[in-house]
Amino acid sequence: MKRRGILAVISGFSGAGKGTLVSLLLEKYDQYALSVSATTRKPRPGEQEGVHYFYKTEQEFLDMIERDELLEHACYVGNYYGTPREFVEQQLAAGKDVILEIEVQGALQVKEQFPEALLLFVTTPDADELVRRLHKRGSETDEQIKKRIQRAYEEAELISGYDALVVAYDPESGVRQIHCAVEAARMSPSHNKEFISAIRAELAERGEEL
Ligand code: 5GP
Repeated sequence: MKRRGILAVISGFSGAGKGTLVSLLLEKYDQYALSVSATTRKPRPGEQEGVHYFYKTEQEFLDMIERDELLEHACYVGNYYGTPREFVEQQLAAGKDVILEIEVQGALQVKEQFPEALLLFVTTPDADELVRRLHKRGSETDEQIKKRIQRAYEEAELISGYDALVVAYDPESGVRQIHCAVEAARMSPSHNKEFISAIRAELAERGEEL
């Protein structure tokens, strides 16, 4: 029996390093497929169409919603972001574990539609470390960093809707935690419904035979 892959949703505080963890995870194991999102945000220097995102106009994005082509979507700092449904379905059916790197509102929508999805939240060990990493990136002003910290405070309230925390002490331990959580999800009853009904049917038959 070909097993369906695990749908793993990864969110986290801005600056916690989820992008790095996802790149390392994909490098290290080939069981994963990364979903490329659609967005109305403009490409940043160095970003490529179809690699980082599928860049859409607002009308194109709304048409995708209308045609039910997105598994989830959310508005984040003035732009739309959404996960194309078809790729995810195909890869899961082919047995790949699919990674969605998305923000919290979208993650919780995915959980509603796919209760068996694994929701992981990446955090630093403490707030000081988050502030340090945001400063180290050097891409934001003090004011922007303050905004991100305030947003992190708000997001922290939603962590209880996730299945597991990934405490990124360092990249290696973060990757290991994600991979272990995915392997554990593969053993969960909600991911093995077919197996459970098959064995129950067999037991019923054998019971008749006894
Ligand atoms: P950025 O503009 O920095 O690439 O992404 C901004 C935020 O949008 C990040 O938290 C990222 O994880 C999230 N994001 C990226 N793609 C999607 C998506 O398809 N759906 C949702 N809900 N969030 C996304």
